[in-house]
Amino acid sequence: MDPWVELQQRIVACNRCPRLRSYCRQVARQKRAAFRDWSYWGQPVPNFGTPPAALLVVGLAPAAHGANRTGRMFTGDRSGQWLYGALYRAGFANQPESTSSRDSLELLDAVVTAVAHCAPPQNRLTAQEIENCRSFLEQTILLVQPRVIVALGAVAWRETGRVLKSIGWHHGTWLKFQHGARVSLDRCTVLASYHPSQQNTFTGKLTESMFDAVFQEARKRVDDAKSPSGSGNA
Ligand code: SF4
Repeated sequence: MDPWVELQQRIVACNRCPRLRSYCRQVARQKRAAFRDWSYWGQPVPNFGTPPAALLVVGLAPAAHGANRTGRMFTGDRSGQWLYGALYRAGFANQPESTSSRDSLELLDAVVTAVAHCAPPQNRLTAQEIENCRSFLEQTILLVQPRVIVALGAVAWRETGRVLKSIGWHHGTWLKFQHGARVSLDRCTVLASYHPSQQNTFTGKLTESMFDAVFQEARKRVDDAKSPSGSGNA
């Protein structure tokens, strides 16, 4: 079987975190009134996109009524509108809208994943749950072979650094998270952004222009890496 298909199937069938699996199923049963006609996905959410891809976006986890409802990463909530809008404007998606898994959205040379593939209560993961899901992020990075990784938020930033170390792409001390932080490695460049959560976007901590700047930098680094004269590791 294709290793990507096999990975995606193992993610969807995973049951390593009883608390998260129970919460996702409960949310899928109870639903939010606005989505009562929906048949919630309720299972672990697989990666979105197809490897190899130049860009890998690492989020935190599916939202209870977003990806846990639609079955596709960052789809069906406001964070997703921000993410796919920015990906579209940077040329990594064919449209800015993301409403359901049948909305014709296609990623262009990009894959979207997350630290955890199941929605956590209050958007908080335990250290054990992050560890439980780590092997999926390792395998995702190894199969995608990204030239640029954008980590959304401090947890994704830390976890990406840990995983890059475990697969031998990074050695030494990982930078502390801050919006706009950048780590240049032999294999790829890692960029940090605030997560486009409502907490950040409603308060103005993350503006659209700040978010766009991160993905425009990702675009430039991808293009540089692919150009015949590019260093491949700016
Ligand atoms: S968060 Fe990851 S490790 Fe935990 S049950 Fe979901 S897919 Fe499995």
